[in-house]
Amino acid sequence: MAEPLAPTSELERQLQLLSATFSQRLQLELPELAAKARQLGLGGSPAEQRQTLGQLRDQLHKLAGAAGTFGFAQLGARARELEQQALHWLDYLQDQGSGLHEFIQALQQFGEQRVEPPAPQDNPPPPQEAAKPEADAHCIYILEDQLDIGENMRLTLDTFGYHAEHFSSSAELDAALQRRLPDALIVDVNLGGDAQNGLAYAAALQQRLEQPLPLLVITNQDDFATHLEAVRAGAMGFFTKPVDLPQLENRLERCFTQQSGEPYRVLVVDDDDDLASRYSLVLRGANMLVEKLQNPADIFECMSSFNPEVVLLDVNMPDCSGPELAQIIRFNDDWLRVPIIYLSAETDITRQMDALLKAGDDFLTKPISDNALVTSVFSRAQRARLLSNALARDSLTGLLKHADIKEQVTIELERAQRSGKPASVAMLDIDHFKQVNDKHGHAAGDNVIRALANLLRQRLRRVDSLGRYGGEEFLAVLPDCEPEQARRVIDEIRQRFAELRFTVAGNAFSVTLSAGIASTTSHAGAGELLERADRALYAAKDGGRNNVRLAD
Ligand code: GH3
Ligand code: MG
Ligand code: MG
Repeated sequence: MAEPLAPTSELERQLQLLSATFSQRLQLELPELAAKARQLGLGGSPAEQRQTLGQLRDQLHKLAGAAGTFGFAQLGARARELEQQALHWLDYLQDQGSGLHEFIQALQQFGEQRVEPPAPQDNPPPPQEAAKPEADAHCIYILEDQLDIGENMRLTLDTFGYHAEHFSSSAELDAALQRRLPDALIVDVNLGGDAQNGLAYAAALQQRLEQPLPLLVITNQDDFATHLEAVRAGAMGFFTKPVDLPQLENRLERCFTQQSGEPYRVLVVDDDDDLASRYSLVLRGANMLVEKLQNPADIFECMSSFNPEVVLLDVNMPDCSGPELAQIIRFNDDWLRVPIIYLSAETDITRQMDALLKAGDDFLTKPISDNALVTSVFSRAQRARLLSNALARDSLTGLLKHADIKEQVTIELERAQRSGKPASVAMLDIDHFKQVNDKHGHAAGDNVIRALANLLRQRLRRVDSLGRYGGEEFLAVLPDCEPEQARRVIDEIRQRFAELRFTVAGNAFSVTLSAGIASTTSHAGAGELLERADRALYAAKDGGRNNVRLAD
C-alpha cells in the first residue's frame, strides 16, 4: 500500500496545519454568513438592513484577504466580488429591487458551499542559510597595479583587523584564487601594466564562481560609464582615488554584515490571528524573527522591547485602524527609521492612497503569495538596516554615535544581568587634544581621532561595541569581560596609541590617552555605570594622564 506523502519540512507541515485550521474556521464562518444573508432577505427597517449589510461586508472583506493566503484562492476571489456588491448595496439600499434578492441568493450559495481542501500553494522559499560561524579574520584580496597604493591599502586593512593580500597583476591573483577564495575582492579599474580592465577581469571571475564575491571597485575614473560597468560586474562599492580607507573599510563591514547579519526583526499586526500566524511562519521560514501583535494598545511596549525593523500592518482592525496605528508610531521619532507596510485586502486604490498619505510606506494586497511576502519584507528590512546603520555611524570614524553607543550600554547591561556574566565599559579620552589641534591643525587632529578609532576596532573583539562618545572621547562596551581583563586590553591600546607617530609637514609628534573603566555590579543602571567610568577617567587625568584607571 502506498504511504501517504510525508511533508517535506517542518515549515510545510506547520503551514498545512494552519490551512487545516483555517478550513475549520470556514466551516463555521460560511454558514454564519449564509444565516446573515437570510436575515437580510427577511427585510426589516433600512437601519437594520444597513447594519446587517455592513457586517456582511466586513466578514467578506476578511475572507477575501485571508482565503487566498491559506490556499483557497477561488473562494477568496468570490468573497472579493461579493464584498464589492455589498458595498454597492450599502450605497443603493433605498431603491431595493430584485437585484438585492439576487445578491442575497448569491451570498447564501456562497455561505452554503462545501469547502474542498486547499489547492497546493507555491512552494515557500527555501530557508536562508543560518549565519555563518564567525571566521577569525575576513580575507581580502586587492588587485592594484600601483605598488604603493596596493601596499598601503593592504597594511591599513591589516591594522583594521582583516587579513589582506595585495596582487599587482591578474595572473598573480589567479594563482592565489587557486589556493583560497577571499571573503571580498578589491579591484582597480585600470591595470596599467597589463593594459587590462580590472572590471572586465572581475566580471569574468564572478561568472566562474558559484557564488559571487563581494566586490569593491577603486578607480581614477569617476564617470557614469565606469559606474555602470562596476554595477554590471556586481560591485557593492565604488571608490575614486585617493581612496578614503576608513570609508572603504565601512563598506566592507557593510558587505559582511549583509551576508551574515542577525535575522531581520518583523512585527506583524493583524486582528486575524490565523493570518498573523501564517505570515509569521512564512517569514520565520525565511530566517526572520517575527512577533505578532493583536492588541494595538500594546504597540509602545512592543516597539521598545522587540525593536522591529519592519512593521506589517493590517488596515481594517476593529478598535484602531492600521493608518491610525501607523500615525501613532510616527509620533515617535525613535521609530522613524522603521518602514510600515500595510498588508490589507483593500484593493480600492483611492483608499490605499489615503492610508499612505496619513502614514506608512507601502501597500501590499492580500492575498499575497509566500514568495512575494518574503521578498517584499526582506528588501525593505535590508534597506532599513542599511539606513539605520548609516545614520547611527559617525562619519569621521565609522563608529557608533553617542546615542547609539549609549543604548548599547543599556542592552549589554541587561544581557549581563540575565546571563550573570559581567560586562565592562571603558571611557577613553585623548590627552591635551586641544594642543594637537592648535599646534598641528584641525586636519591633523582629525587623523589622530581616526587612528585611535582604527586601533580600537582592530584590538577589540567583534562582540564589543565601539562608539564616538564626544569629540575626542570614545566609549567601548565589552560584554562578558571582567574588570581586570578590560584593564589589560585597554592598557595595551593605551601603549600602542602612544607609540603611533604622526607627521604633519615634516613635524613628527605622538599623542597619549587616558581611560576609565567600570564593570557591571548587581543592580547598577546604565547611567550609574557611565558615571563611574567617567569618574575613573577623571582620576586617570588627575593622576598625570596617559594611564588607565578602574572605577572604585
Ligand atoms: P584633556 O587631556 O583634559 O582631555 O585635554 P583636552 O585638550 O583633550 O580636552 P578638551 O576637552 O579641553 O578639548 C578637546 C578638544 O577636542 C576641543 C575640540 O576643539 C577638539 N575636538 C573635538 N572634536 C574634534 C574633531 O572632530 N576634530 C578635531 N580636530 N578636534 C576636535
Ligand atoms: Mg581630551
Ligand atoms: Mg574631552
